[in-house]
Amino acid sequence: MSGTDGAKAAAAVDEARQWDRLMEMAKLGAIPGEGVNRACLTPLDREARRLLLSWAGPLGLEPSVDALGNLFLRHRGSDPAAAPVITGSHMDTQPNGGRFDGIYGVIAGLEAVQALREAGIATRRPIEVVAWTNEEGGRFAPGCMGSMAYAGFRPADAWDAVEDPEGTTFAAALREHLAAEADIPRRGLGVVDGPAPFAYLEAHIEQGPRLEAEGLDIGVVTGIQGSRWFLVELKGESAHAGTAPLSLRRDAVQDMLRAIAALNGLMEDPADVLRFTVGRIEVSPNTSNSVAERVRFTIDFRHPDKAVLLARGDAIEATIRGGDPQLRGKGHRAVPRPAGGVRPAGERRGGAGRGGAGARRAADALRRLPRRAIHGAGLPDRDALRALPQGDQPQSGGICRPGATGARHPRAGAGAGGIGPGLIPDQASGRAAARPGE
Ligand SMILES: [Zn+2]
Repeated sequence: MSGTDGAKAAAAVDEARQWDRLMEMAKLGAIPGEGVNRACLTPLDREARRLLLSWAGPLGLEPSVDALGNLFLRHRGSDPAAAPVITGSHMDTQPNGGRFDGIYGVIAGLEAVQALREAGIATRRPIEVVAWTNEEGGRFAPGCMGSMAYAGFRPADAWDAVEDPEGTTFAAALREHLAAEADIPRRGLGVVDGPAPFAYLEAHIEQGPRLEAEGLDIGVVTGIQGSRWFLVELKGESAHAGTAPLSLRRDAVQDMLRAIAALNGLMEDPADVLRFTVGRIEVSPNTSNSVAERVRFTIDFRHPDKAVLLARGDAIEATIRGGDPQLRGKGHRAVPRPAGGVRPAGERRGGAGRGGAGARRAADALRRLPRRAIHGAGLPDRDALRALPQGDQPQSGGICRPGATGARHPRAGAGAGGIGPGLIPDQASGRAAARPGE
């Protein structure tokens, strides 16, 4: 085993093959504007999974499905009992999804494994390409059900009663789905039924504008935003727009402006890492000639540092109640809402250690890749490499713009090339990386 295996693995990536697969997948659920609508646990989802299996089968990858419908394609390695390295993402989309969100990580994972095999690189650990069930939460909320159950963050039956807009429960949809895939071997559920994986690596398109803005082709994620959500309720007093003097009004809309201005002050961040969003506002009675008696608005607050998340999140209530002198004594409140259990990466089991090392290795390999010219500077999609510590669930959602052109993305291979070295942790450093007791 040598340190050059990683570079060989990256070099063996077949960008054209990967691109053809991405485009083939994008036909399943295609919507106008080069987008995709492929909800989880639907016949369309199953069609996409069968297409994936049709590529994995001839490679000799062994498929299996767990109780949540997470689909795995296993490359054995010379030591099948060793903790596997897992790579992948999701195949479901939001109703107005793009062609690359999620599916890119699955197909890039498959491409990376195929490249390893075709380059004749013998791996010690098994490598598993995974497609997580309901990562997007577009049909059943919240998202990340499959990966959360895999990681043991929630019990497998936690979402049985969740209904889609048509009233179908998650349990019923999952039952139908597993019956349709009864020919695929079943496996235990993640760390609940078996050993933890050695590492998890995910290639994903960028969920924000930073790489594009900075002209970068690919990046390594160094943290995960923790998030806190709140529902703010501001009390006013209904009055007629034509008669009530301004000095006597208790106008909930005016208080909303004061509250948001005060919150903007609280959330100021010169480093521009913090994310603060007021995304939904409800005004009551919401008529043009009435003073508002009530306003409700949502707060979505994110930061990768737990200390910041706690300190500023905890200050929201006080800001609503008194961040401006005119807000005081009015009984305004901010009620926390469950934010899907998302915590900053550093707070999670496993810390940043192993995943961080994998990410660094992948980043090193990327730097060694030849930089190619970017043709068509308007291409909107960028690849991002995401490396998470073991036991973490991938986070998804965010911005995914459908591609503006049918042309092959010049850096579509970067993700597969990047994760390849991370999939062979024993080789890349030239020494065996083993867990204690393994
Ligand atoms: Zn995604």
